[in-house]
Amino acid sequence: MSRNEFDLIADHFSGIGSRREDVALGIGDDAALLNPPRGQHLVATTDTLVAGIHFPDNAPPESVGHKALAVNLSDLAAMGAEPAWATLSLTLPEVDDHWLAAFARGFGDLARYHQVALVGGDLCRGPLSVTVQALGSVPPGKALRRSRATVGDAIIVSGTLGDAALGLKLWQQPTVPASEEVAWLVGRLHRPVPRVSLGLELRALATACIDLSDGLAADLGHILAGSRVAAVVNVDRLPLSGPGRRFGGGRSHWRTALTGGDDYELCFTVPRRRLHVVDAVASRVGVRLTRVGTIQPGVGLSLVHGDNTPVRVSRPGYRHFQDS
Ligand SMILES: [Mg+2]
Repeated sequence: MSRNEFDLIADHFSGIGSRREDVALGIGDDAALLNPPRGQHLVATTDTLVAGIHFPDNAPPESVGHKALAVNLSDLAAMGAEPAWATLSLTLPEVDDHWLAAFARGFGDLARYHQVALVGGDLCRGPLSVTVQALGSVPPGKALRRSRATVGDAIIVSGTLGDAALGLKLWQQPTVPASEEVAWLVGRLHRPVPRVSLGLELRALATACIDLSDGLAADLGHILAGSRVAAVVNVDRLPLSGPGRRFGGGRSHWRTALTGGDDYELCFTVPRRRLHVVDAVASRVGVRLTRVGTIQPGVGLSLVHGDNTPVRVSRPGYRHFQDS
């Protein structure tokens, strides 16, 4: 890109995000110099969003900026880490001033909210994609892993499930009449809320944790594999939002809640003797927490209804959740 284009981008990205005292040297040199908190683990994660794959080609640029950072903060939340810094690599088909301004606004607003400093970046020309690296810290021994769920633990999820998958369907059907509920569901797709403060609370409570990027069935599956345990999930307990219930295909909406991706809620396990603390955590962080199942001995995920009858699985795609 020409020098002018670099200047244009520098204009948009200089000063976005938070200013932090632990940044010894920020954007402007070959690399940043950072001071991690003494005695803590540095926690690093990165995620790439590609247009047409991870977000619709016509997604609003402000949302793309928000989401690119949010999915990374969600990974830090799932580790129980406190976010501090981020880097950003942008690949753009062309330099579009309006697009960049809106993108930077979406990224910067979320960064400031979570006191994250943007400490480096890169850009090149090509099909639209965004790579963010997020860095944070956690005290030794306090990180939330996937590998420590124990038989008898309760399985809990934050927020409501299936909203982002419905939001994507609605976004792709421009004939659906606009309403507050449609906008809310589409917002759940474009502007996920990383559960950072919940992740910090879970340091002292959860035995295992993961963020829900690919859907509860798939992501809980990672905890089960990592912890070498099985689980039973009650599909009638999956937390559904009001708009989700109305747009989600009635009684079978639990399938979307179980398999729909992009919600970026947290799924975690809690020992039964600590369950009494969960409600207090929910009210401290202002997020709904719902017990949806139990960790069991064995392998795989079983699904039951509220009356404990096994879920009949008619579609072959669901069979692999039933191999316990
Ligand atoms: Mg993750």
